[in-house]
Amino acid sequence: MEVIASFTIDHTRLKPGIYVSRVDKGFTTFDLRITEPNKEPAVAPAAMHSMEHLMATWFRNSSVKDDVVYVGPMGCMTGMYVIMTGSYTVEDMRRLTIECLRWILEQTEVPATTPETCGNYLLHDLPECKREAARYMDRLLNDFHSEYSKLQVVLEDGKTFADA
Ligand SMILES: [Zn+2]
Repeated sequence: MEVIASFTIDHTRLKPGIYVSRVDKGFTTFDLRITEPNKEPAVAPAAMHSMEHLMATWFRNSSVKDDVVYVGPMGCMTGMYVIMTGSYTVEDMRRLTIECLRWILEQTEVPATTPETCGNYLLHDLPECKREAARYMDRLLNDFHSEYSKLQVVLEDGKTFADA
């Protein structure tokens, strides 16, 4: 098994921001990194679940809705993936995400939280979701990061390379 590209990112130097995780087959996967991995608390599962419902709703109703392929949380609970078709830059995604977070902060309920519409409808926390959204928006506006640090892998012959 090969090490997949996202595992070659140095997570000890990854700050909250927006990164291009990968570009392939006409799709761009954006890494919306909400908290600093292993240094700040990850987003609580219930808050992340609410953020998923809200972000997916916003993106799929936005001006770019026809290009949205997928919105969903990372297993490590430190960020969200947004997959797009078409040509979008990190700056485009930054602008869209700030607009989305502003909308989330105005919401008084989470969409689709019934047993019919959600696989774990009791696992939601809008106040905590909004706290994380406000914090993330502040990062995107005032302390923005978008360049990955790659892990340096030392080969058996002593040479180094950064994969992906
Ligand atoms: Zn759900």
